[in-house]
Amino acid sequence: MSAAIIDGKRIAAGIKEELKALISAVPQEERPGLAVVLAGDDPASAVYVGQKEKSCNEIGIHSFMHRLPGTAAQGDIIELVEKLNGDPKVHGILVQLPLPNGLDSDQVIATIRPDKDVDGFHAVNAGKLWTGGDAIVPCTPMGIMALLDSTGVDLKGMDAVVIGRSNIVGKPISALLLSRHCTVTICHSRTRNLPSVVRRADVVVAAIGKPNFVTGDMIKPGAIVIDVGINRVGGKLAGDVEFASASEKASWITPVPGGVGPMTIVMLMKNTLQLAGVLK
Ligand code: NAD
Repeated sequence: MSAAIIDGKRIAAGIKEELKALISAVPQEERPGLAVVLAGDDPASAVYVGQKEKSCNEIGIHSFMHRLPGTAAQGDIIELVEKLNGDPKVHGILVQLPLPNGLDSDQVIATIRPDKDVDGFHAVNAGKLWTGGDAIVPCTPMGIMALLDSTGVDLKGMDAVVIGRSNIVGKPISALLLSRHCTVTICHSRTRNLPSVVRRADVVVAAIGKPNFVTGDMIKPGAIVIDVGINRVGGKLAGDVEFASASEKASWITPVPGGVGPMTIVMLMKNTLQLAGVLK
């Protein structure tokens, strides 16, 4: 078997066009605003923030960039977030993680007003996600669900195995899969016999941060494989899944790059529109 590719780049481009059309109907001065806070000079963070800014410009969201030096104090970031909380032009606030060493990202996230928490990382939104409330859902998991839906496969009753338990990907995607009636298993660094757990899965979501960790021999024939990992190996990007061997077994698979990555950015745009009330 050779898996069909889930083309995140194409799907994201389609959603982006829909969002652009929605925004074009909104008068300039009422258009959604996204504030992005970048502290320090981590090169990967700078790339991600640049991509977010570009996407905002392309679809008509006002982007407000706030760059702070790596020496910024905790109080400086908190003060900035509080200012943005009170700014009516700002509908979404994103603090790019990780923050420089020594800064407490939990406290910063807790300071963001939950109704401006465009990343959906605030405990209020995380709690609503798990309790079935009206949450702002983190962008990467929301993008993954759109990729799964694009296959047309009914997820109800499927065994889903999520590898990774981060607050950004692993936990929220588990909540979303559960809400779609999957039987969800979350694996992590202390899971015993991980390959045998993964072999049971109809849906595998790999969010580990270790290149080519999931190999074809762990994939059940016909499974859907979502590779969230972004790893730099010898100047090239590699996912958490060994694409060549996994695509021999899977029915559907996401590539890296061009799978989950483009979806994350477009879902950030979608969340901004939702917070601004442009999208219900
Ligand atoms: P994280 O470092 O916060 O979490 C990694 C998880 O992997 C942890 O829960 C840990 O328990 C688990 N893990 C580590 N070693 C393991 C092992 N040997 N066996 C089983 N589990 C193990 O990472 P994260 O923020 O969730 O990101 C994961 C990956 O996804 C990274 O490569 C990151 O760059 C990527 N990512 C991509 C996007 C995107 O838009 N495509 C978005 C967010 C994260």
